[in-house]
Amino acid sequence: MTGPDTGHLVVEVHGILASVEVDGETVRCSPMSGLNLYPVVGDRVVVEPAALEDDPPVITEVLPRRTSLARLRRDATRHGGAASEHVLAANIDLAVVVAALVRPPFHPRFIDRYMVLAQRGGIDVAVALNKADLGVEPPDLSVYRELGLAIVKVSAKTGEGLDDLRALIAGKTVMFTGHSGVGKSSLVNALHESAMAEVGEVGGKRGQGRHTTSRSSLYRLDANTAIVDTPGLRSLSMSGIPADELGDLFPEVSERAERCRFRNCTHDHEPGCGVKDAVASGEVAQVRYETYLRLLHEED
Ligand code: GDP
Ligand code: ZN
Repeated sequence: MTGPDTGHLVVEVHGILASVEVDGETVRCSPMSGLNLYPVVGDRVVVEPAALEDDPPVITEVLPRRTSLARLRRDATRHGGAASEHVLAANIDLAVVVAALVRPPFHPRFIDRYMVLAQRGGIDVAVALNKADLGVEPPDLSVYRELGLAIVKVSAKTGEGLDDLRALIAGKTVMFTGHSGVGKSSLVNALHESAMAEVGEVGGKRGQGRHTTSRSSLYRLDANTAIVDTPGLRSLSMSGIPADELGDLFPEVSERAERCRFRNCTHDHEPGCGVKDAVASGEVAQVRYETYLRLLHEED
């Protein structure tokens, strides 16, 4: 957890109540009515004792979020079908997109979708290619390396590459996301088991089965590293990002957009488009541009 964090950390949310770490203990708190934001896992909050002795402590403020991960859904009832946002977690530093080299088959393009959502919330992205033990060569991911993503090859089964993954997430609050069956739970369990082995402890403070529950929770691998897990984060759906915002979420697109003839160019059908020129000359990867177009036209 980077930076000088103030307030108390929300480690779990269940209905209206939030569990908050206060002086090393996990305390159930209830949000004050009219609170500025609805607390989510990872939030930093101010907690005060309740007026009545038997009532749970009260969250009186949600501190500003460094990053936030939101699910978007196009909302037909809003002007122009603008997207409504549902924030799933706050203050995550790194989203680890997990893909299996095989079973299920790997289509690098799906990384793009996660990148867009994470970047929108200010979160860095890395890729973990799991099931390395199955002996399948990874596809060419140079496009993503050039965009600055760290890529590690791992096996939850044999432990191969787990040190690299551990180094990648050290000192951060991270989430694991990716399609069902790629091995997210297995990886998190493997990381967790090795962390627990190190401190000579079996099972965590918050018990077993945390990776299969439907709750939203945050738990620590060590003093400075935490994993946020919610079912919603595991497979992110996304739609309804406005066209003008979408371009900014593809770094190589926004970089070329200033060369477009029209200021409001969507880099689709417009003449004199700097982005399309860059795709034609190979400066911008065709696959990334195709994802951009797909998201631009996505409905639902
Ligand atoms: P999740 O849906 O992403 O959480 O995936 P799971 O962790 O439940 O794993 C899905 C399946 O893949 C299970 O049958 C795991 O045993 C298997 N699996 C996970 N990691 C590995 C790995 O590194 N190698 C192999 N061969 N199988 C794995
Ligand atoms: Zn353009």
